[in-house]
Amino acid sequence: MENLSVIKFIRNLYQTNSNIPLHAPIFYEKEKSYVAEVIDSTFVSSVGRYVDEFERRIEAFTGAEKAIATVNGTAALHTALYLAGVADGDLVLTQALTFVATCNAIRYLGADPIFIDISMDSLGMCPVALEEYLEQNAYTNDKGCFHKLNDRAIKAILPMHTFGHPVDLDSLVATCNKWGLTLIEDAAESLGSFYKGIHTGLHGDFSAISFNGNKIITTGGGGMLLCNRVAMQERAKHITTTAKVAHSYEYYHDELAFNYRMPNLNAALGCAQIDSLQKIIADKREIASCYEAFFENSNLNFVSEPKYAKSNYWLNAVIFPNKVARDVFLNETNQNGIFTRPVWRLMNELPMFSQSLKGPLNNSEYIQDRLVNLPSSSRNLQKDTE
Ligand SMILES: *Cc1c(COP(=O)(O)O)cnc(C)c1O
Repeated sequence: MENLSVIKFIRNLYQTNSNIPLHAPIFYEKEKSYVAEVIDSTFVSSVGRYVDEFERRIEAFTGAEKAIATVNGTAALHTALYLAGVADGDLVLTQALTFVATCNAIRYLGADPIFIDISMDSLGMCPVALEEYLEQNAYTNDKGCFHKLNDRAIKAILPMHTFGHPVDLDSLVATCNKWGLTLIEDAAESLGSFYKGIHTGLHGDFSAISFNGNKIITTGGGGMLLCNRVAMQERAKHITTTAKVAHSYEYYHDELAFNYRMPNLNAALGCAQIDSLQKIIADKREIASCYEAFFENSNLNFVSEPKYAKSNYWLNAVIFPNKVARDVFLNETNQNGIFTRPVWRLMNELPMFSQSLKGPLNNSEYIQDRLVNLPSSSRNLQKDTE
């Protein structure tokens, strides 16, 4: 397929001759009025009604029992791992193909990631590779699950729903149960994505959503911790709000905790954004089906949602036959103002994680060399800004 025909197709999809970003936020009418109302009220920070309202709206949308708004998705992941009991010297199984925040959050607690390969169906953690790694490298006793090499505790698995496509959660849950591991989902990219009819982020004990500016909806910066372990729900909120004991004027904090609460100003933006979420997802699924039809008879492989899932198609992607063709495409599209991007560098290739343990990473390496993300913004943006 000629790169020029792809460029024409994307320009036609977005109906513009200006630069086309990879993913831009989209705002309708309510955002300005909600944010203005918060400024007028002076409650821009840690007090105000929008934080609670945004949490309840996310609960209603996802079906989660307890959602806790945080300053960003990384903070939600950090808190999730902390609540799961991940501590100094522990190990957490995760993906090499992910955004760096997944692994940073593990390291913040003094723990280390172990990298497991991805499945080509979801581009997220492969349940077969996970099971094989544990069979070869782990043992369990009455104290938990440990690594044969160094006897360090393996505490949790942290899969990530890549570009919004859900991982095979049933299989991962089965492995967690078998080995006594806690499941935490990095659902940063998958708000609006469902696994067998259930929203992502509900199978794990904990999960994290992101509302960064490039995500499906945004609060400027922000995140949400979903706490599905009932006994932890009160403590989860407590730990993100400096463990302050409620009192009308006294300052008493009963444990070491984080100052991770989302400000009311950001939550106001979130409440306005979530009103448009269904509309945004519908448009993104429409964009994905246009791409899919366009690439059907080409030598490029469009990344579709796994059979068991309904994806938000946060970022669309194609896989090239080889790295050379991919690099030519990246150059030509970016020179033409179409901001395509390669996938992230694998975590095991970054200096801070180069010493981490890992299983075979054949699929991750294959994808690293060949995948390109295509412009995926919801389209009404162009109508609004032009
Ligand atoms: C966006 C993202 C996060 C969290 O990002 P924040 O910018 O901290 O909100 C975490 N993991 C993945 C995979 C992400 O894409």
